[in-house]
Amino acid sequence: MVALIPMDTEHEAYLRDESRSTGSADSISFPRDEAEIVAVLQRIREAAGDGAPAPVTVQGARTGLAAGAVPGGGHVMNLSRANRYLGLRVDEDGVYCLRVQPGVVLAELRRHLADKSLPVHGWSSDDLRALERMYAGPEQFFPTDPTETSACLGGMAACNASGARSFRYGPMRPHIRGMRVVLADGDVIALRRGEVRACGRRLRLQTESGRKLDLSLPTYDMPQAKNASGYYIADDMDAIDLFIGSDGTLGIISELELALSPVPAFTWGVSCFLADERAACEVTEAVRASISDTTAIEYFDADALDILRRQRALGAAFSALPPLADAWSCCVYVELSCAERERALSDLALLGKILVAHGGSVADTWVARTDTDRETLRFFRHAVPESVNMLIDERRRTDPAITKLGSDMSVPDGRLHDVIALYRSTLADAGLESAAWGHIGDNHLHVNILPRSMEDYAAGKRLFARWAAEVSRMGGAVSAEHGVGKLKRDFLATMYGEEHVREMAQLKRQLDPWCQLGQGNLFDVELARGGDRA
Ligand SMILES: Cc1cc2nc3c(=O)[nH]c(=O)nc-3n(C[C@H](O)[C@H](O)[C@H](O)COP(=O)(O)OP(=O)(O)OC[C@H]3O[C@@H](n4cnc5c(N)ncnc54)[C@H](O)[C@@H]3O)c2cc1C
Repeated sequence: MVALIPMDTEHEAYLRDESRSTGSADSISFPRDEAEIVAVLQRIREAAGDGAPAPVTVQGARTGLAAGAVPGGGHVMNLSRANRYLGLRVDEDGVYCLRVQPGVVLAELRRHLADKSLPVHGWSSDDLRALERMYAGPEQFFPTDPTETSACLGGMAACNASGARSFRYGPMRPHIRGMRVVLADGDVIALRRGEVRACGRRLRLQTESGRKLDLSLPTYDMPQAKNASGYYIADDMDAIDLFIGSDGTLGIISELELALSPVPAFTWGVSCFLADERAACEVTEAVRASISDTTAIEYFDADALDILRRQRALGAAFSALPPLADAWSCCVYVELSCAERERALSDLALLGKILVAHGGSVADTWVARTDTDRETLRFFRHAVPESVNMLIDERRRTDPAITKLGSDMSVPDGRLHDVIALYRSTLADAGLESAAWGHIGDNHLHVNILPRSMEDYAAGKRLFARWAAEVSRMGGAVSAEHGVGKLKRDFLATMYGEEHVREMAQLKRQLDPWCQLGQGNLFDVELARGGDRA
């Protein structure tokens, strides 16, 4: 039987995630499957008697950046041990669909697919036949690519994670074919994409115990930009989309079915170093408009490159980074993937022309064509957020209240120059230290403010609130990929307005009347329970 372990010093790490905020909890469990998830919920209900059951915060790998997995009291349900591979089928279009538990780690999934070594314990003969066919055919991969590969698939689904390659492949959402979700009362909903749709803004669901739910969906329209802010809502939407990106607030994902994709024959990563940010925006727009094989367009600003230069000079973990010339002031990374070498070469030639037209040159460009080259580039991209985290940890030694302030906002195509101008002018006015990087192809940069003092920290927070308002006015999203969690919930009201956030809370109460799951995510507790903001 799964244990509810009283919270103790041995489990302190489970009070934190990568947002570097810390919470509190009374107990923790590590269920290994859906039956154990249901059992934990039942014991928590029994312990409460006639009162409200304790809050439950679900965790995957705790790599989230919005404190969604940080508990605010009650129970922590950590699903990292529910990590089995459950089976495989081929759909009618020949797509391989892999069933996994939520605790499967992305890096391991990738390795098993590349090595053809998926653990098959307990698979049926149909599953094994599908596997044999898959291994005999072109290599498959899972396209969603958050930089942090230690994330779990369940956490990635709960955040609708995305990453560099989402420029071509989109976020998690389109790659999720099926899902099993345990509701707060222990009932289960099984969802398969295409099977249950809303009628306008009414969604009727049936649980496995036969209970019928008639949900009234919020009335807002989502932005025409990359978005991970609040619930996914649209007329006639697929029911599965409501649970993807719901930040652990509507139900516990106990199983996922993932659509795999064939690995493109040629993938070349091109790091283009440029002299100024305007050129970087123009290169982005030109690549977006003219090279259809582009899978990723990423950006690193001058401050991000400077941080890498400093880390490299310090040696140790970052000594493997290639040298960065002083003249380089920013970098646009373009990834091209296609089936034929000739086409890859002509894409590369076109990219070369675009670069030269914007002040770039062959000498200022790295092209990665082999696995080893690509690995170096991956290390380079991961080193930026890692270095910033290390810098902040150093500053926290002087003032432990300081944390990194990382933005995650996006705007629609056509507003890239405007949003960058906004960031630059307001950062300069406030005199704040920062570093920006991220998914410029989706008009989505992570601007990280690096506070040197609590005054800087307060100024940075004011700036973020201003950006949230301006980005919302531009038709963008306050969180494009990390989710709202606990850290960005004020911005949700900025983006959608208080009334629409109240509608989201109402929707949550229809599925989780005690507001037990993911307490503090998206809304504060009072608002979630139907009161006004505390
Ligand atoms: C260096 C670095 C770079 C990153 N880059 C990116 C990036 O490019 N793109 C991106 O999207 N993210 C990025 N992230 C953030 C993070 O990796 C993702 O948000 C990831 O999807 C979280 O997965 P996890 O398993 O760690 O989830 P956790 O952090 O454990 O949980 C995240 C949220 O999901 C909920 N949750 C977890 N499991 C379940 C479940 N089974 N059922 C219901 N709810 C659940 C939690 O309650 C919480 O609200 C980065 C993080 C780091 C540290």
